[in-house]
Amino acid sequence: MRLLLVEDDIELATGLRADLVKAGFAVDTCDNGIDAEHLGDTEPYDAVVLDLGLPAKPGIDVLRAWRQRDNRVPVIVLTARDAWYERVDGFREGADDYLGKPFHIEELIARIRALIHRRHGQAVNSINAGGLHLDEDLQQVRLADGEMRELTGTEFRMLRYMMLNAGRILSKSTLSEHVYDQDSDRDSNLIEVYVRRLREKIGASMILTKRGQGYVFVDGSSRS
Ligand code: CA
Repeated sequence: MRLLLVEDDIELATGLRADLVKAGFAVDTCDNGIDAEHLGDTEPYDAVVLDLGLPAKPGIDVLRAWRQRDNRVPVIVLTARDAWYERVDGFREGADDYLGKPFHIEELIARIRALIHRRHGQAVNSINAGGLHLDEDLQQVRLADGEMRELTGTEFRMLRYMMLNAGRILSKSTLSEHVYDQDSDRDSNLIEVYVRRLREKIGASMILTKRGQGYVFVDGSSRS
């Protein structure tokens, strides 16, 4: 899952980014409204954390512009503490959730997860697909027979994206766009390497290869 973090307080942004990366997200950052609007329209983010007080263009105007162009990326707005009118404005312009500053990083992570799960039709507190259960706190996967498997950071990001999109064909470029941030070297051969490693951990039959198209994580209904 790849996030855009829009925050002009550089110290805050740096800290948040580190925490979000540790929580298993690929994170791009941006410190002004103009660049944020462009990135949000051109990169396939799974969610955006949007501060409202931004240089160049206010966050609320960025959000309005996205929604007017039918850009439906899930957005959590960061509002001033107790500024109820900012929350109202945010929802009115199409925000999915809000968080008042200052906040605890755990709450932001929980809200991002809930938003992404809802968007993919999953229960809010866990990810289940194909008989597998993904633990986002421990970044481990539980197999159908109950055995737990450890995952590296990249394996976790990739498996989460695949499980949330179970049954859909995912091209290598789609996978790399959602698993790596903008500054990463996106080598599609790496995706093959990680698919192979995931197959070793969760069972080769869980991930099908669709020649020339990509991969499919096999959910319960598509297995006969
Ligand atoms: Ca600000």
